[in-house]
Amino acid sequence: MTSAHDPLAPPTTERFGTPGTSTATRVMLLGSGELGKEVTIALQRLGVEVVAVDRYDGAPAHQVAHRSHTIDMTDSGEVRRVVELERPQVILPEIEAIATAALREIEAEGLARVVPTARAVQLTMDREGIRRLAAEELGLPTSRYAFASSLEELRDACEAIGYPCLVKPTMSSSGKGQSSLDGPDDLEAAWNYAQSGARVAGARVIVESFVDFEYEITLLTVRSVDPETGRIRTDFCEPIGHLQSRGDYIESWQPQAMTQDAYDSARSVAARITGALGGVGVFGVELFVKGVDVYFSEVSPRPHDTGLVTLGSQVLSEFEMHARAVLGLPVVTTLSSPGASAVIYGGTGVEDGAEGVGFRGVAAALAVPETDLRLFGKPSAGRYRRMGVAVSTAEDVETARERARTAAAHVTVVE
Ligand code: AMP
Repeated sequence: MTSAHDPLAPPTTERFGTPGTSTATRVMLLGSGELGKEVTIALQRLGVEVVAVDRYDGAPAHQVAHRSHTIDMTDSGEVRRVVELERPQVILPEIEAIATAALREIEAEGLARVVPTARAVQLTMDREGIRRLAAEELGLPTSRYAFASSLEELRDACEAIGYPCLVKPTMSSSGKGQSSLDGPDDLEAAWNYAQSGARVAGARVIVESFVDFEYEITLLTVRSVDPETGRIRTDFCEPIGHLQSRGDYIESWQPQAMTQDAYDSARSVAARITGALGGVGVFGVELFVKGVDVYFSEVSPRPHDTGLVTLGSQVLSEFEMHARAVLGLPVVTTLSSPGASAVIYGGTGVEDGAEGVGFRGVAAALAVPETDLRLFGKPSAGRYRRMGVAVSTAEDVETARERARTAAAHVTVVE
């Protein structure tokens, strides 16, 4: 960014300000979870003033930002109010449930730059928007799919796609409201479950054919300003493999072994989808791989939870890459060591909503070789709430995975 008066100028590194003064380079996070907390720390290391916004007090990034606000981020008026109050040059939407209409207006008026773009944020929060862009406009390979807005339409859609299939609310993420269906007997339960997991009432759903993949990856893809040409370039990290349970990631590792052909296809898919979304920053491109076939699944226009592994495995973590890219600074995507991450959940030791929980076994976890922890500091816990993560490195991915799993298992959450 060039100056506080020119927020939409293409990002350059010409001048950075001082936090807390009128020269500050100011970034606002909409969504202040564990990923936002790491982005905040990365930005602050570059002398950026960070304002963290979330819907509840004491969110992870709230705890480390210069200032914080608690608002309903789905309310356009509220989003606009905090933006006018804080006047950030850059807005980083960190979650999907955001009033995107307000972001489009803010961007169009030149009030702040939205990362990567307001349109990208709007398209990716809606499974229908991103699927139609990927499959119908770009011709990328995806699972077969159809949409439905009622139980009757769902019956027809599942008939057309065939069983087994998956049903997901179009306005949802991370497996929320998602079910797999073996036959018509599962229709009603799937419809009702989708309604409960959606961000809005009367929700539309997507039906996807079940992709019988060998493994799934996140390909972290970074769009940044090339310091030599001043133009946007696209770089790829080593592929991240991951394991999912209940639609949420439980383990990730880097690099995931792939054939050269599959890796080439993955990069081509990632370049096309991120190119169509535009802007700068890190994107998490989720892909299913079967032999040499690569299917596009989803994309986050921001760091990805499975990318927490990069805190250990890369020269720059995905959070540092994101901070640099959004500021117009050069990035490197180099792997420094094979690594793995394993999630620490609230687990059986806590009730949902338990406040001010404790963590036992931290010393034992950190005694595992080449292992680090992040405890997110969330004010309340839940059995399936992600409370922390163990990140390990090793000479090979298998050892790193074992270390991360062992370390995560040492940590128990207690009331
Ligand atoms: P999503 O919420 O769409 O990211 O889905 C969560 C997880 O469910 C994915 O990471 C996959 O493991 C699985 N999944 C989603 N869609 C499909 C599909 N069409 N075929 C097979 N597995 C899927």
